[in-house]
Amino acid sequence: MKNKSKVLVTALLICVAAIGVNGTSINYGVRVHNEGIVIDGGEKTVGRNDADYKGMEKYCTDEEIYSCIEDAYFSTPVIEQILNDGRCLAYVDQLKAEGWIPQDFTPAGSKPSSTTQTETKAETPADNQTATSETKEQPKTETKTETKTETKAEPTQEEIDAAWEETERTEATCTEDGKIVYTNSITGDTKEESLPAAGHDYEVTETADATCTEDGTNTYTCKACGNTYEDAIPATGHAEGEWTVTKEAGMFTSGIKELTCEKCGEVLNTEEIPQTCPLPLAAVIGIVVAVVVIIGVIVVLVRRRKNI
Ligand SMILES: [Zn+2]
Ligand SMILES: [Zn+2]
Repeated sequence: MKNKSKVLVTALLICVAAIGVNGTSINYGVRVHNEGIVIDGGEKTVGRNDADYKGMEKYCTDEEIYSCIEDAYFSTPVIEQILNDGRCLAYVDQLKAEGWIPQDFTPAGSKPSSTTQTETKAETPADNQTATSETKEQPKTETKTETKTETKAEPTQEEIDAAWEETERTEATCTEDGKIVYTNSITGDTKEESLPAAGHDYEVTETADATCTEDGTNTYTCKACGNTYEDAIPATGHAEGEWTVTKEAGMFTSGIKELTCEKCGEVLNTEEIPQTCPLPLAAVIGIVVAVVVIIGVIVVLVRRRKNI
């Protein structure tokens, strides 16, 4: 381990010298471990031994690996991989406190405190991510499903059934259905119960009677909503009464009789009453004249015979 360290320190010194010559070395004084390329005080390049971790894993103890992390051997993605491989788990809290890994990082295989791993992954540099993200993905999805089943199992079905409360009510009208909305205070689910429309409750509020010839109407009004409609009452039609004589017939003059409606008095029919004498007046006069003439002729003829 010590020989290895020496080699690494030598390589580091060469690197630092090369960066110093190019004038690109910057003394930031601040560690941003997620970046994996940050210089700490210009002395140690964080993550310079990322590639060595796989070999180191085989023969180093957790304690040794942790001290290598402390010496800025590894960048954040590799440290996360170390933890995901089940190494250095006893140092998770220290590593978080020192800022080597994000506060919300959870090693695979233990319960996650939150689910922002995707964000952390996006921040890590592409160089190291390709190797680490593949190994990380599978265990993480497993831990997520575990958490879900745990939270669901908390309230019992009976408690959920008892947690329904009426949160909204729309009364039904005569024509439109109403509803009651129930919300479950545990699950947040909602369900609706329909209140069927009651239908109009009509009563007759006004009546215009029908006459013999004109329709009448019944006006119906809903007691609940005031809606109205009219229903026609059909015209009754006339009722024929007795014939009435309005002018008596004379011997030679005709009379008149009328048929009226016994309800409204309207004259429905008029008829002529014939004169009482079956012969017309002129014929009677003619007959009388003819009779008088004949009698006169006979009288004249009888007197002439007596004189002869
Ligand atoms: Zn109504
Ligand atoms: Zn009538």
